[in-house]
Amino acid sequence: SDVGSQKERVVTEEEWLQKWEMGNIGFHKEQGHPLLQKYLDVLLNGRSGLRIFFPLCGKAVEMKWLADMGHSIVGVEISEQAVKEFFSDHSLPYCEEPVPEILGAKMFQSTSGNISLYCCSIYDLSSSIVGKFDGVWDRGALVAVNPCDRQRYVSLMISLVEKNSSYLLVTVSYDPNKHQGPPFYVPESEIKSLFG
Ligand code: SAH
Repeated sequence: SDVGSQKERVVTEEEWLQKWEMGNIGFHKEQGHPLLQKYLDVLLNGRSGLRIFFPLCGKAVEMKWLADMGHSIVGVEISEQAVKEFFSDHSLPYCEEPVPEILGAKMFQSTSGNISLYCCSIYDLSSSIVGKFDGVWDRGALVAVNPCDRQRYVSLMISLVEKNSSYLLVTVSYDPNKHQGPPFYVPESEIKSLFG
């Protein structure tokens, strides 16, 4: 598992915004992710009305699924285009408001109130702003974080979850010498050391 070739790679926020503008969003799954269906029971663990966090959410349709099941969804995404497309793709009315604690950030909330998407960098969030979560769906998130920012990302995620939370993490397995990523290859051993 030589990940040396990816260690130095950096994708800037500007590059992510460009991917959205150009429609280079091959990561987006129109049908949703089969692994969420498969592991839904693990995420919910018999509980209802959870607060579920979607880091680096894009316009993931799983946010709609879980909201329709009665959970309350919070996502964070730097692309305002992605956030707006989420609401328009599902014909959901929303309102938009500034986030007083974060300069330049906006929060987009469905009119029904159960989906709140923060448009800012995830690194601007803290539990004093978004509270703590009972569940996390991390798909295309840890693996999209620049390798140099992984520990910072994981420490933040740990600070955002309640004691009895469930965290579903999807990674991809491939030879990191053959593709530059993202998604980056994050070996299981690194996941263990990152999350402790
Ligand atoms: N999780 C989503 C999107 C994965 S792609 C899905 O499953 O479809 C990664 C997303 O993270 C992109 O939409 C990108 O715009 C966003 N992103 C990248 N860096 C970010 C950051 N620092 N803060 C918030 N969002 C970010």
